[in-house]
Amino acid sequence: MCGIVGYIGNREATPILLSGLKRLEYRGYDSAGLALLEDLPRAVSTNGHSSSLINSTRLVIEKCKGKVTDLETLSARSPHHSTIGIGHTRWATHGIPSDTNSHPHTDQQERLAIIHNGIVENYSHIKDRLLARGHTFRSETDTEVLAHLIGEFYAEKQNLTEAVRLALNEVVGAYGIAVVAADSPNEIVCARKGSPLVIGVGNDNDYFIASDAAAIIAHTRQVIYLSDNEMATVSRSGIKTRTISNIEITKQVEVVEMELEAIEKGGFDHFMLKEIHEQPQTITDAMRGRVIEEEGNIVLGGLQNHLDALRQAKRLIITACGTSFHAGLIGKYMIEQYARVPVEIEYASEFRYRNPIVNDDDVMFGISQSGETADTLAAMREGKRKGALALGIVNVVGSTIARESDGGVYIHAGPEIGVASTKAFTSQLTVLSLLTIMLGRMRHLSVVDGRSMIRELLEVPEKAQSILDDTESKIEEMAQIFKDAANFLYLGRGYNYPVALEGALKLKEISYIHAEGYPAAEMKHGPIALIDENMPVVVVAPQDDVYEKVLSNIQEVRARKGHVIAIATEGDEQIKKLAEQVIFIPQTLPLFTPILSVIPLQLLSYYIATARGCNVDQPRNLAKSVTVE
Ligand code: GLU
Repeated sequence: MCGIVGYIGNREATPILLSGLKRLEYRGYDSAGLALLEDLPRAVSTNGHSSSLINSTRLVIEKCKGKVTDLETLSARSPHHSTIGIGHTRWATHGIPSDTNSHPHTDQQERLAIIHNGIVENYSHIKDRLLARGHTFRSETDTEVLAHLIGEFYAEKQNLTEAVRLALNEVVGAYGIAVVAADSPNEIVCARKGSPLVIGVGNDNDYFIASDAAAIIAHTRQVIYLSDNEMATVSRSGIKTRTISNIEITKQVEVVEMELEAIEKGGFDHFMLKEIHEQPQTITDAMRGRVIEEEGNIVLGGLQNHLDALRQAKRLIITACGTSFHAGLIGKYMIEQYARVPVEIEYASEFRYRNPIVNDDDVMFGISQSGETADTLAAMREGKRKGALALGIVNVVGSTIARESDGGVYIHAGPEIGVASTKAFTSQLTVLSLLTIMLGRMRHLSVVDGRSMIRELLEVPEKAQSILDDTESKIEEMAQIFKDAANFLYLGRGYNYPVALEGALKLKEISYIHAEGYPAAEMKHGPIALIDENMPVVVVAPQDDVYEKVLSNIQEVRARKGHVIAIATEGDEQIKKLAEQVIFIPQTLPLFTPILSVIPLQLLSYYIATARGCNVDQPRNLAKSVTVE
């Protein structure tokens, strides 16, 4: 689920692999490693008088628990000359993060090395079989079992591609893998099912392999995306692709439109802070070219072929995980209010396994920043299988959900590197706002109302900018007051109830403070028992239809000595008297308030986390794109 990099060409592989792994660090990982095929020039006597040099190759593995810089230090201690190698960052699923469990793993004979993202679900069955045949295992990982299985086939077939292919035919589970072998020094074999894999075509007869294009765009923008059940043999003379059932296939070379600056920090201390600050721009980008103000309408290119289905849909189903789920929940509120279509929203991990009722006239939306989220992808496939039209709301162009869905909308937020999602969330909300107006205009919304909603939405980026300008330093000070709290409660109602969930999630993710989000009125059905003079309670209370109700909830918190931090509408004098701390946001239509009200919550978690000395961009245990279920 974490990172894969590979290189084959004429240049020194180690620096390319290490810099690629650094580009993938944002995804969250616990260990890192390299496998290199080192050239060992050897003097060999050919005829008793003269001698000539022939090359032999040795498999070198360097790996350790910890950061890529630790691996770099390890690697610098004994440099190896190599022009082919693979590198990995691990996000442990089977076995603790440790030097031994780090990838690459080798086979019984130590002839080959593999790196793997994903899970081999039937590993224990395969392991038992191999144990019975005398294999011994060094690590606790599922991956090492796959290495040994490939090794068995390699010994038999003496062909690496065929060995990998035959082994993968026995694997149940998800994988993105790359394999090298000492006695096949001119090839890297890679394959995917469930975990992304892209092959970069360099300019210099060299090739790159990566789980994410960000790792290789410094070298090339020409890429081939492998699809599920496909594999490639990458050599210095080209790429051969086939399915794992051995049908040769031809893959299209595509161009990645990603700028290098977009994946660098640009003067900010952390990617997360940079991305929070990008939001005025990314919200604008999500709307660009999609708004027809005059007609009070919206055009979403990726949905144009499905307008009838959307018009006739009896029900929408939104499925997502984590932050995207919170965006989807707000989407439900928006769409039901303005388009009057029933919307069901469900965690993708639940939807995929519970035999949900799906009708032919349902339209399903899967929301995922990465477009690779394993549960969301599987839920979409399940919906599709049962007859629904499956549409994606995705950030990463060319990602699996983008490619597999029947259509959809890109949010165009640019690469999101910080593990805790910020700009992708507000861009998802912007796209859901556009979708709401579009669906509304197909049904009950008048041109006049559509127009006034659009005008309000177009002002949101500027308002987001004013929040960043006016509130950041105050929030930074507030973080000093609350940084040592053990718990936080987040409350909101209506459109801002999911914002409370999202605020709590952000704080948990990067500061490790326990935080819970609740619909404000639910507080009295349980969480109120936790409130005392040690409990900060963040209340999202803009002046909307439920404002007065939220004020009552604030009173209830105060009566129990909780510390209230309110997010309120500019000019609200009343709330100043009730809350200990108030952060003001500009007025907008209630359905658009989440795009604004979440920004102070993102800043609050960022500054609390940095005040606590946490690694904001790579929080412990988290991964950016969750490609395991
Ligand atoms: N399941 C493998 C392990 O635990 C791979 C984890 C990953 O995707 O990084 O080592």
